[in-house]
Amino acid sequence: MSDETTTLLIFGASGDLTSRLLLPGLGTLLAVEPERKVRVVGAAREAISKQEWHDKVRTAMESAELPEERIEQLLTSAVYYQADVLQQEELDSVLADLEGPIVMYFALPPQISIKLSALLEKMDLPADTRLALEKPFGHDPESAAEFNAQLLRVVPESHIHRVDHFIGVATVLNLMGVRFANRLMEPIWNSEHIERVDINYDETLALEGRAGYYDGAGALKDMTQSHLLQIMAFFAMEAPARLTADEVQSLKAQVLRATSLWNEDPAVSSRRARYNAGTVDGKEIPDYSSEEGVDPSRETETLAEIVVGIDNARWKNVPFVLRSGKALGEVSKEIIVTFRAPRHLPLGLKDNNQPDRLILQLKPGAVTLELAINAQGDPFALEQKSLSAELGKARMLPYGEVLGGIMDGNALLSIRGDVAEECWRIVDPVLKAWSAGDVPLQEYPAGSDGPEGWGVIPD
Ligand code: NDP
Repeated sequence: MSDETTTLLIFGASGDLTSRLLLPGLGTLLAVEPERKVRVVGAAREAISKQEWHDKVRTAMESAELPEERIEQLLTSAVYYQADVLQQEELDSVLADLEGPIVMYFALPPQISIKLSALLEKMDLPADTRLALEKPFGHDPESAAEFNAQLLRVVPESHIHRVDHFIGVATVLNLMGVRFANRLMEPIWNSEHIERVDINYDETLALEGRAGYYDGAGALKDMTQSHLLQIMAFFAMEAPARLTADEVQSLKAQVLRATSLWNEDPAVSSRRARYNAGTVDGKEIPDYSSEEGVDPSRETETLAEIVVGIDNARWKNVPFVLRSGKALGEVSKEIIVTFRAPRHLPLGLKDNNQPDRLILQLKPGAVTLELAINAQGDPFALEQKSLSAELGKARMLPYGEVLGGIMDGNALLSIRGDVAEECWRIVDPVLKAWSAGDVPLQEYPAGSDGPEGWGVIPD
């Protein structure tokens, strides 16, 4: 960690991300690392007084139980600029007094981020300026590549942090630990022993008033293209010699380059559905298409599933099923590894035909190993028994980890430009097949498990 004071310049300081996630995340970072020096600068068009900005920052720091003395210290340098950052003069006035190192956090609508980076491209920024960007990183492979090229004209790739708060440090390190830090898992982490891998992110939450964002995105873009493919890359990558950002980023890129839709056929390797009225946890949920701000003609899916394969020696012929959706009956945020049947069962033991499975729960972190073991009361029969362990809790909020990494120039949790493009390349045929109507939009009642027959691997 640097001794210097980092300026955290938040573009979009009046928005939801800033007050709900960024500032509280910063609070937890400073609680864990009290010696870290930060100056919090906000900018947006809304008229916010100095006092209101201080109140916003204070509320977040208090929620992280930062000592009063530390909060006061932070507030002495915390400033807010009322500015339309797409107006060159106003942008100049925001940047005029800032001292490096600077982290420019784009908590902005995507189209504004693109325009702002076009302005920054022509400016002379301090050499240690870093950019932090929120998804979406483009909307298809071409726009992602274009945006990447534009960002590279502002700062070098090592100073661009495409944020995926979903990949918190705890999740990533837990995956590394389970796989590489014991003698049991690593040798069987391949197609010889693993039959399939399911990465699920089912939520019970419905739209929750987020039509403005969600109806233009849908489950595939919101979750699969971004978060689930990242998790898959961490799961399936080759072993890093050391946990450095460069090494991990390259190994993730390698595995994603080898990834494509199962049988290269988007029409049979993807499914989409939208919830209609139902009940979740006793709460009435209206039909998605009748929610305020939803345009039903967009046919936005609230549940998506794709099957992909990784064409390399380790994973040849192992399907990876990535599924995520909203308003489902049960929360399921996990990776399920299904092992192949034993090569031979001693004659006389009765097969229970249940696969052994490793279940890695993402949030909260837990590991469960389900193994066939002799059954209770009948030693010739078999039944599945579970060995479970809870994993350590995260030491701070995901955005605390994200901000700490960016301020330290550590890109372990960032998404490298080529990785963002690969993720679009993988899902692009699905998006095209869906908009061509090649895959029907199914329906499921809110509070159900989704439509029947999903999770089946196409021949
Ligand atoms: P909001 O719409 O709540 O906030 C957008 C911010 O941008 C506002 O502060 C707005 O302020 C500011 N803004 C817009 N135009 C300008 C301009 N020309 N000059 C200066 N400021 C401008 O969006 P969110 O906070 O929800 O999201 C921001 C980004 O974070 C998006 O990319 C989103 O995808 C991403 N994200 C959001 C999450 C969330 O839970 N909210 C989660 C993960 C990612 P004003 O109108 O006052 O100028």
